[in-house]
This record gives sequence, structure tokens and C-alpha cells, in this order.
Amino acid sequence: MSALNMSTNGYAIDRRKLIAGFAAASVVSLTPRAYAQAPSGPFRLDPLPYANNKNEPHIDAMTMEIHHDRHHAAYVNNLNGLANQLGGLADKPLDQILVKMTDVPEAIRTAVRNNGGGHANHTMFWQIMGGSGGEPKGDLKAAIERDLGGLAKLQENFNAAGGRVFGSGWVFVTVAPDGKLALTSKPNQDTPLMDGQRVLMGNDVWEHAYYLKYQNRRPDYLKAWWNVLNWDKIEARYADAKAGKLTI
Ligand code: MN
Repeated sequence: MSALNMSTNGYAIDRRKLIAGFAAASVVSLTPRAYAQAPSGPFRLDPLPYANNKNEPHIDAMTMEIHHDRHHAAYVNNLNGLANQLGGLADKPLDQILVKMTDVPEAIRTAVRNNGGGHANHTMFWQIMGGSGGEPKGDLKAAIERDLGGLAKLQENFNAAGGRVFGSGWVFVTVAPDGKLALTSKPNQDTPLMDGQRVLMGNDVWEHAYYLKYQNRRPDYLKAWWNVLNWDKIEARYADAKAGKLTI
């Protein structure tokens, strides 16, 4: 019994050391700003427009940091790595590339779809957060009531659509040039831009967007996300869409 206890105890100590070692290593590895070392190219990762902790407690600061500085940075870096195969398209704005994917050379089309879609989706995503939720006003409020049954109904249907995405993907509200709104979801990093549509707003339901805080509870993340929306920014996107000026 004594030998067994010692053995069990020894294992437990080693395991604790191991876990502490992993934790220390992950803290150290988060310190460098990955995006600051991005290879040069036509595509750029803008800094987050607010502090990493701005969306606390609904989205934790570490998730924001990893999501922006690692995941989004990787899409931008990968896209820059493809730029020399894009030919003249490399000089075009990203939305113009994504709305006409058939112009992208076939050999890199899937990579541009994934990384270009990822760049566009996340650029939109950071913009529309950093707020304190609440409700839209004016024209956008009227359009949500007209096309989507009002904010409460939109939230219900949007969250349900987010729950139905199997694996990784996004939920979006699209906006037509005449201001009409519609709800849609996409797998992976696809975007409605690839269907020639424009994105008013969208939520990322990849596990990397919520796993540290919510683990498998995606419905809780979807519900909490509305508390960090910046409706002023979304209203500005709506006005831009109707003026033909909304890009990604
Ligand atoms: Mn993401």
C-alpha cells in the first residue's frame, strides 16, 4: 500500500509540474504581437479598434487577443503569401476579389476563399463590436422591423441559425442596395460577398471565438454577443450600403 501511495503521489506531483509548465509556456508565447511581424504584402491587419478587454465580460480579453492577433493575423499572412499568384487582382480591394471568385486562378481559389473570406469576415466583426448593445435606431430599426420581424425576433432567429451551423461558420445579416435585410449563415470562412451580397453584420461561431469562456455552450455565447454590439457602427454600415459605399 505504501509503495502504491508513493507512486500515485509522485505521479500527481509530476502532472502538476507538467500543467504549470504548459501554463507558463502559453503565457510567454502570447506576449509577442504576432501581427507586427507579418510579412509585407497588399493585405493589412488593422489593430483592434478598442482594448482587448473592451467586450468583457461577454467576450474575454484573451479570446479577443488570440482571435485577432493569431487567427485573423494568420488569414492576412496567408493571403499575402498568395499575392504573387493573384496577378492583377492583388491590387484590387478585397471585396472586389471576393465578389468574383471565378477570376481567381483555380490553383489558389480555395486558399483565397478561406483566407480572403477570413480576412473580410473578421474585419467586419471587430468593427461592429466594442459597444454596449442596446437597440438600433432610425432607418435600421425600421428595416429590422420591416424585414426581420423586429430586434427580438432577429435575435431569436439569428441565434437559432448560429446554433444550427455544424462545425465552423458564420451567421450574417445581409443588406441589399435598396436597404432590404436578410438572415443567412455560411460554413467555414465563406461570406455572402461571394454571392454578390453585402454584409451588414455577422457573428463568428467558430469555436476559437468563444471556447475559452463558453466551451461547448455556443448558445450562451450567441446570446451574450448582442451585449457588445456597437449599433452606431452597424447603422453607419447600413447607410453606406444604401449609398453603394459598403465594402467588407
Ligand atoms: Mn474567427
